Amino acid sequence: MSVNVMYWKTKRSAEDYVLPVLPSEMLPLHEYDEVHVNVSGGADSVATVLVALHGYHIPKEKIKMVHMRVDGDPNDKSKRQLFDWPQTDEYLQYLSKTLDIPMIVIWGHMSLEERIRDRGMFPDSQCRFCTSYQKRDVYAKWVRQFDDCKILLLTGERSEESTERAAKKVFQLHSTHAVGRKNRIVHWLKPIKDMLKSQVRQLAADYGIELHPCYEWVSRCSCKFCIFNTSSELQQTSRLFPEDWEYLKQMEHDIGHTMKSKDGKSHSLSAFTKEDQLPLF
Ligand code: SF4
Repeated sequence: MSVNVMYWKTKRSAEDYVLPVLPSEMLPLHEYDEVHVNVSGGADSVATVLVALHGYHIPKEKIKMVHMRVDGDPNDKSKRQLFDWPQTDEYLQYLSKTLDIPMIVIWGHMSLEERIRDRGMFPDSQCRFCTSYQKRDVYAKWVRQFDDCKILLLTGERSEESTERAAKKVFQLHSTHAVGRKNRIVHWLKPIKDMLKSQVRQLAADYGIELHPCYEWVSRCSCKFCIFNTSSELQQTSRLFPEDWEYLKQMEHDIGHTMKSKDGKSHSLSAFTKEDQLPLF
């Protein structure tokens, strides 16, 4: 006998994901002058904005989405757009227009490629200078222009992603928090820490927000050649961006360091992706 089961999907509101109690160190939400949401373009950052807007009901006039480009100035032709997805700029414009919230796009003076060549090495999990120089420091420098201001920073890390992220606190003072003459309050909250990947995706769908096109090819909206990408993800992006892929492999030769290693041994990108075994067509 066959049994037909019908599942009814319940649409969940962003209000379902607000923290039951905000950390005691925080100000009442209405006391913040500005709320910054760090937006990579990935689904987690979309969910963070939706929870801020529709969960905590932060007025959109107070919210700024802030994106850090790792390839630096997009108008500087001397900088190759090697790590940022080419679709990201357009996607950020779409998000800004759809949510009616300004998107601030910022970058450092050096691109990630320049940083890697300068240091003669690729970043890795122990020395993740890509994130620290190209994202963390760029945001910190930008936010230091605001004095006499109360800022709430929201970022989209989730515990489900890694044990390292699960161990992080949901609230902390940001490194740019400065009492005294600067009078700059910068409180850092991770409001979707307990959300699951499936909930994040569903929330975006429930509010009619399309996801970044890169999800067609990779599971995370990271750099297109991220140091944490799997072999199959790098195979995908190598097919999508063959010229950049060749350039990246040449970079390994130029600096004498490989992006990937396994069991303490260097693995060239060709070896890591088993390129010699890939079908040509
Ligand atoms: S996405 Fe990957 S490569 Fe890019 S900054 Fe983050 S860790 Fe580094």
